[in-house]
Amino acid sequence: MTRDAGPDAPAAVLFDMDGTLVDSEKLWTIALADYARHRGGELTDATREAMVGSNMTRSMMMLLADIGVPDPDAEVDAAATWVADRMAELFRNGLPWRPGAPEALRAVRDLGVPAALVTSTIRSLTEMALETLGRDNFDVTVCGDEVGGRNKPHPEPYLKAARLLGVDPASCVAIEDSPTGVASAEAAGCTVIAIPCEVPLQPGPRRVLRDSLTDVDFATLGALFTRAA
Ligand SMILES: [Mg+2]
Repeated sequence: MTRDAGPDAPAAVLFDMDGTLVDSEKLWTIALADYARHRGGELTDATREAMVGSNMTRSMMMLLADIGVPDPDAEVDAAATWVADRMAELFRNGLPWRPGAPEALRAVRDLGVPAALVTSTIRSLTEMALETLGRDNFDVTVCGDEVGGRNKPHPEPYLKAARLLGVDPASCVAIEDSPTGVASAEAAGCTVIAIPCEVPLQPGPRRVLRDSLTDVDFATLGALFTRAA
């Protein structure tokens, strides 16, 4: 049962996935480190941190350069396939929620506003994650291989979600955990609830920092537009 969201409610809530709804960034770290070792290298903390929130191609280019592969362009597709296969194994073993994430999805549904999943992760892995997240919790889903290469921090993923929902991105609240994702949502014009997971986040315009999804009052999201302005 939904209720009238009211004039102050956002037009939609746009959720990032990895690190925001599910604690999958740690699984990405395992898969990426496994690949680096498979190639005789080591994933450094600095490179891993720079990848958080990025799409597969960009992440793999960084990793291949980091471990000294002479021609990353020639190997990026094979490397991405290897890591996607490893991630699928890890996803199958269970995908842990971030604190408050199931309640947050339910609260947005109860609010009666549309919800989108806006992820840099490819469709095939996202479909596995949706088994945990619940397909019915989202009106649209936008994946990293569905934005014409214009991945976060480019605004296109969030712009596309807003287009699909038929709403103004400036009237949407995005929820993100990474600097790359926050930059994407802000460039699209969204107000952002920034909840750091693996990487610290700084305050900024139209950005509301929270420690956890459990600290977000979804019933009063509309107030964020004036508070964060
Ligand atoms: Mg994320």
